[in-house]
Amino acid sequence: MEGQIISLMQQAMEAAEIVDLSYTLEPGMPVWPTHARFGAIVYETYDHGELSMHRQLSFGEHTGTHLDAPKHFFKDGSSIEEVDVRSVIGRGVRIDAGFLKPCESYTLKMLQEFEKQHGELREGDIILLHFGWEERYGLGKEAGEFLKDWAGLGGDAAQYLLEKKVSCVGTDALSLDAFGSENFPCHHMLLGAGIPILENLVNLQKLPVFSYVIGLSNKIKDGSASPIRVIALTEKDAQKVSGHGETGGPPLTKDEKGA
Ligand SMILES: [Zn+2]
Repeated sequence: MEGQIISLMQQAMEAAEIVDLSYTLEPGMPVWPTHARFGAIVYETYDHGELSMHRQLSFGEHTGTHLDAPKHFFKDGSSIEEVDVRSVIGRGVRIDAGFLKPCESYTLKMLQEFEKQHGELREGDIILLHFGWEERYGLGKEAGEFLKDWAGLGGDAAQYLLEKKVSCVGTDALSLDAFGSENFPCHHMLLGAGIPILENLVNLQKLPVFSYVIGLSNKIKDGSASPIRVIALTEKDAQKVSGHGETGGPPLTKDEKGA
């Protein structure tokens, strides 16, 4: 007999609007300055009379939208294939942090203010910090602004999130620690507690405060991270919550137009 799980999932998918939170992997996309860039080499192609086409890909583990594993900062930490497959499945909580100035950090006080407005965070939540960084995204030379001055999460807030036992913490910037941070408090505290970090998310401005998030990374042996496809399920035609710094809305990036 067919179990209940199938009809429950079908009902959920039919009721949901899906927002794609991952960037497209493509040449020229911005990566951390010391990391490998994305490349694709055509190996077989119809153009040479072959029956099919395929390419060899080359990229760093932290390319595009990706999930950091504890091993990224801890020699004996879990690698990406050991991270719980449920880490990026659960209630998504979008936190507006677009009001911060470049290089600033989102503090515990701001987080407590958020909870006063929207209710307490829960164990298992997937935190999505929205700094409005997709406005700076671009390919090649156009990525310059994306690669510097991003705001991040403060150490006091990171400590609070790990005490809350959230499942995962994400950002739309290149790193969860603010640009210029030398001791990477978020990476040390969260990865140290076994909580993976999502970086380079996109389309967070399309989300209401709460959504249902599903993300599955690749299963790379000994990986410090992996590109990840993340989607958020929201109510169809739900009224979008627009926060600070979003009046008028940012111009659409390539990914948003296609999503
Ligand atoms: Zn990373």
